[in-house]
Amino acid sequence: MKVLVINAGSSSLKYQFFNMSNESVLASGNVERIGMDSSIVTHYPVDKPEVREVSEILDHVTAVKRVAEMLTHPEFGTITHLNEIDAVGHRVVHGGEAFSSSVLVTQAVKDEIRRLFDLAPLHNPAHMMGITAVETTLPDVPQVVVFDTAFHQTMPNTSYLYPIPTVLYRRHKVRRYGFHGTSHSYVSDQAAEFLQKPLESLKMITCHIGNGASLAAILDGKSLDTSMGMTPLEGLMMGTRSGDLDPAIVPYVMNKEELTLSEVNSMLNKHSGMLAVSGISSDMREVTEAMNEGDKNAKLAFDMYTYRVKKYIGAYAAAMNGLDTLVFTAGVGENSVVFRQAVCEGISFLGVELDHARNAERRKDAREISTEGSRVKVLVVPTNEELLIARDTYRIVNQVKLQ
Ligand code: AMP
Repeated sequence: MKVLVINAGSSSLKYQFFNMSNESVLASGNVERIGMDSSIVTHYPVDKPEVREVSEILDHVTAVKRVAEMLTHPEFGTITHLNEIDAVGHRVVHGGEAFSSSVLVTQAVKDEIRRLFDLAPLHNPAHMMGITAVETTLPDVPQVVVFDTAFHQTMPNTSYLYPIPTVLYRRHKVRRYGFHGTSHSYVSDQAAEFLQKPLESLKMITCHIGNGASLAAILDGKSLDTSMGMTPLEGLMMGTRSGDLDPAIVPYVMNKEELTLSEVNSMLNKHSGMLAVSGISSDMREVTEAMNEGDKNAKLAFDMYTYRVKKYIGAYAAAMNGLDTLVFTAGVGENSVVFRQAVCEGISFLGVELDHARNAERRKDAREISTEGSRVKVLVVPTNEELLIARDTYRIVNQVKLQ
């Protein structure tokens, strides 16, 4: 069975094409600048040279058609006919309270995703365009949706409610949802497999640290708490997002600087975080480089960034009354040796002891970076959200076939 995984954004569409008999990637690629002039399609077939073309792609239907043409192209394609695509899996950012797991796309599911547009106005409408485009191009292919929020639907109300008038929850569903759920779910499973222990037996904190960043406290195999909230702005300091701050700052700054709602929203989402504090970049590599060259603001940004991760680890260890396993993943978590070192330093009271030589190894596989004697196992586990989407799609489509 072959599964196409799609991550549709408002002006882009990323894809990976899997052969599920061995979970190998047959091809991947992306379509950028959809609806703008000079759209770019980049296609990476495995074992063949990359293909890049600039053309006019006005909408998502044309983008999906182009992807289908790439996959079946006589020269650089990987299949001969479109009927070799058995199923399509989509990443969907917001599943609200309606979805606690991945589901087959039906009319009712599409209606519910539409109802959630308000909660994720930048993402869910774009995902819907991807789903509709696949319906148009591959009308007989079953589709599955996998939600970033689903894994965190196990959070108890003590974690997900905000201490504000409850009418706001009842009327407008103002609550914490959490994001990066596909990644937290995937790496927690991989970590348990690596340790050869059932996930349910571990008190685990997963740290997804990339441009966006979040932590999850995983107890009894379920998400107990996570640092992102109603939107992906809450929690840790990120590349360009502020993370936690005193909410009273918002009206104060709006008043002092005469900012509109959309301006303050953009300030907190796009012009804050590491970018604002360093004054250099939102990219960890550039900030670390500047810090190593003696830039004081870059050092402050790095220190604030790591300090906040450390504080959340302490909070989640307390929330779970213990900690067995600490997992790092995503761009920064998988690659930055100095980041992991700064976070793990000074939390030996929790039982975390980093092995510096292991931490400095540059590897791409799941590995342990704590000492043999460390009570808490510290792991680096590469995330693979696309693979989890492909697995869920494969499982759900097969279940439906058996019914
Ligand atoms: P992601 O959003 O998961 O793609 O992660 C992007 C972040 O990972 C950026 O801040 C990058 O600077 C960071 N990153 C990627 N590779 C490295 C690396 N080798 N060392 C440090 N940071 C890295």
